[in-house]
Amino acid sequence: MGSLHTVFHSTAFEIARNLTLFFVALLWLGVAFWVHRDARRRIRDPWVFGTATLLGLVPLAGPLAYLLFRPPETLADVKARRVELRVLERHLMQPQPQCPVCRAGIEPSFLVCPVCTTQLKAPCSQCSAPLEPLWQACPYCATPVGSRLELAATDLDTVDLDGALTAEVVGGEAFTRGNRPSRARRVGAS
Ligand SMILES: [Zn+2]
Ligand SMILES: [Zn+2]
Repeated sequence: MGSLHTVFHSTAFEIARNLTLFFVALLWLGVAFWVHRDARRRIRDPWVFGTATLLGLVPLAGPLAYLLFRPPETLADVKARRVELRVLERHLMQPQPQCPVCRAGIEPSFLVCPVCTTQLKAPCSQCSAPLEPLWQACPYCATPVGSRLELAATDLDTVDLDGALTAEVVGGEAFTRGNRPSRARRVGAS
């Protein structure tokens, strides 16, 4: 009896007991904190959320009861599902585009109705992409929509400028080309 008494009061036993108590307390607090955090992700109502957090503080039975009765979806999942549904609804509500003349189904990329050959959209002057009537610039190549007339008006100028530039470049090239062989010849001669 006396030996048992000394064992219970030995320092090693006390250290082991304190360590066990420490880890049990750590586990208890960790589980309670996990319940608190999980409840925050799943429960919107502050009263239910508070009750769940308090339930998490009850050792063992509390977290188990929480796991059995917690909402199956997180709030983020619910929100994502709602957004998906809304997008799907909007997509379904959108009317199928029709030709204004013959009511045939058309695609947004069509320039001309394939049934009655009505012109539906004007092509971009630069990249021939189909342009909506309200668009002020082509979204694919950034060409302003009204610029075709301006381009036609300044066509001669640009051609002249282009011609001049080309002549200059060609002249320069001819100049350098004219220089290079002579230098090569000179190098070959020396
Ligand atoms: Zn049509
Ligand atoms: Zn374009």
